[in-house]
Amino acid sequence: MSLRPASLVVSLGRPTEPGSPLNVPIVPASNFVHGAGPGYARDDGTPTWHALEAIVGELEGGHAYAFSSGMAAVAAVFDAVPRGGSVVLPDDCYQGVVALAERGWRVRRVPVTDTAQWLTAARDADLLWLESPTNPLLMVADLPAICGAPRKGLLGVDNTLMTPLGQRPLTLGADVVIHSATKFIGGHSDLLGGLAIARGEALARELHRAREVNGATPGALECFLAVRGVRTLALRLAQARANARELARRLSAHPRVLRVRFVDECPLISFDVDGDAARAELVCERVRLVRHATSLGAVESTMERRAAVPGQEHLPPTLLRLSVGIEDVEDLWADLSQAIG
Ligand SMILES: *Cc1c(COP(=O)(O)O)cnc(C)c1O
Repeated sequence: MSLRPASLVVSLGRPTEPGSPLNVPIVPASNFVHGAGPGYARDDGTPTWHALEAIVGELEGGHAYAFSSGMAAVAAVFDAVPRGGSVVLPDDCYQGVVALAERGWRVRRVPVTDTAQWLTAARDADLLWLESPTNPLLMVADLPAICGAPRKGLLGVDNTLMTPLGQRPLTLGADVVIHSATKFIGGHSDLLGGLAIARGEALARELHRAREVNGATPGALECFLAVRGVRTLALRLAQARANARELARRLSAHPRVLRVRFVDECPLISFDVDGDAARAELVCERVRLVRHATSLGAVESTMERRAAVPGQEHLPPTLLRLSVGIEDVEDLWADLSQAIG
């Protein structure tokens, strides 16, 4: 039976043995009795990790490995690229990835919307790294064109913002996808986690080896919470997207909002308020239902001024990034409009 995404997120990764619980248990194990199956958890994982990996691997269409954080998953991909090799990053890119890349590789930044430049870069780069839409400027790359073009090295896509329900880069030809499970996959701001999903087996083995050697292993509780979270991913996304569409429409018409960046399918809105950075900060301090906090992709709406984040000083000083949650849209609007003034 071929299931649709909303059914897959509910049904994948469940124990099948007769008499087993419906949900994977939290298995806080470091080692297992010799014989068939896992031996040491840092090498072989545990049943709780495997459930999360089975779900996200199937959703993305590749071999998935769970990590201690999104950045640990990114670092495992970079491990597969020789130190000093050339890495191409979008001009607008998650700041942690930029910081990591600058610690050991030759970095070039390319506007994510300039497809011709990406196709040229593909001929000699050791790693093309894409985010689409980008965080926080929400610019969109032509992923089908870039992922399908001939290339010398690896192509990785950070799919954290779109989730596997929004786009599946491995099916377009990408080599590897990463997720910060901290965001939409977990969805409740209560865990740090990451996943790296490889299309091919050779790269999958390298990711697995990087996790083992670097020890960037996830916790059992975190994997359990991520599995619990992903069960409602389709439902959460539907509500958050509908809320975001409506809020983007109303913000665009607000006299004190200068510019609204929004991509359908992704429940983030980056908008500029009139005035200066201090006024933008004031808007953040005034929200009540929306929480003034970093991060994104959770049931609760969060907002922050991104230029205040280290490494993000190049952003417009009045840009507020709103991660839209699943609250009632009328309550969100009442809160935002009183805060914007
Ligand atoms: C948060 C985030 C990361 C890093 O994930 P962590 O779980 O915080 O390590 C990477 N990419 C994007 C787009 C993110 O939003």
